[in-house]
Amino acid sequence: MSRPLDGISHARTIRAEVAAEIADMVSAGLRPPCLAAVLVGDDPASAIYVRSKVSACREAGLQTREERRPATIAQEDVLALVRALARDDGVDGILVQMPLPEGLDRRRVIEAIDPAKDVDGFHPQNVGRLWIGESGFVPCTPLGVMELLSREGIAVEGKEAVVIGRSEIVGKPMAALLLQRHATVTVCHSRTRDLPTVAARADVLVAAIGRPAFVTREFIKPGAVVIDVGINQVRDAARARELFGDDPSRQDAIKRKGYTLVGDAHPLHVAERASAFTPVPGGVGPLTVALLLRNTLRAAQARAAGRSRS
Ligand code: NAD
Repeated sequence: MSRPLDGISHARTIRAEVAAEIADMVSAGLRPPCLAAVLVGDDPASAIYVRSKVSACREAGLQTREERRPATIAQEDVLALVRALARDDGVDGILVQMPLPEGLDRRRVIEAIDPAKDVDGFHPQNVGRLWIGESGFVPCTPLGVMELLSREGIAVEGKEAVVIGRSEIVGKPMAALLLQRHATVTVCHSRTRDLPTVAARADVLVAAIGRPAFVTREFIKPGAVVIDVGINQVRDAARARELFGDDPSRQDAIKRKGYTLVGDAHPLHVAERASAFTPVPGGVGPLTVALLLRNTLRAAQARAAGRSRS
């Protein structure tokens, strides 16, 4: 019997833990943590992500500052904004929503973020710290996956973990974290030969590819834990039936919104082979936001501790 891992309930718990720590900070006379979210351009998906992060922050008692700029902004002006936020003592965490509009250099913008405020964990200093096992900020999605595994009592030590996808924000940090917890880690990507055979070695299989239902039954060792990071839209009712069987909520979603969400793994095949899996939606996604709140809280605590030492 395959067990869905409930990301929504773990995310709720983490958010409540963050809210309780913030309440303690405030009653100790400190100001609540503040996250600055930079949104450049008018990509509708990015605007939705920022809105949901900001509202989750507010609900947990964090302050937020939204910095919106038009897509036509000059590179130097984005850098100036990010550097000003880095200097601003009232800001603890800085999030620059990706992707940036064409013409802006993502790397340079990330490097302008103060590593101590880099709550997304994208700054090279934090990336390096992660790989050498020093404390620093870790990207929220893979951090959320590790949190989910640990809260579910799924140990990875000594196990075969296969990560499909090698992006900076998911695949690579995911591999680093699994390695830190003593898994034997294989990272696969678009040029991996015989991907299903490699994936089928995994006790823990992480799919972070961005291709709907790409991971089918031959990728999944019976009894594996499947972590599906992908978020993809399915608009075709017949395709949704292939993926979800007769689940009426999926057909309803297509009628209502024009799409339903599917991960990178085929949901019916996962349910047939895996011992446990993250559903889409409701698996990894909610944890990403919860860990952003926790990273911001940690940034604020570290900065407050630094101030009281100096
Ligand atoms: P990306 O496009 O940056 O990277 C995709 C990776 O998949 C690449 O490394 C590529 O080599 C690999 N890949 C592509 N096609 C492949 C193939 N045919 N075979 C093997 N590997 C292949 O994507 P990303 O930012 O890492 O995101 C991956 C997915 O996760 C997307 O669906 C994205 O929407 C989702 N995502 C979800 C969350 C969340 O909170 N749940 C957060 C970030 C990303």
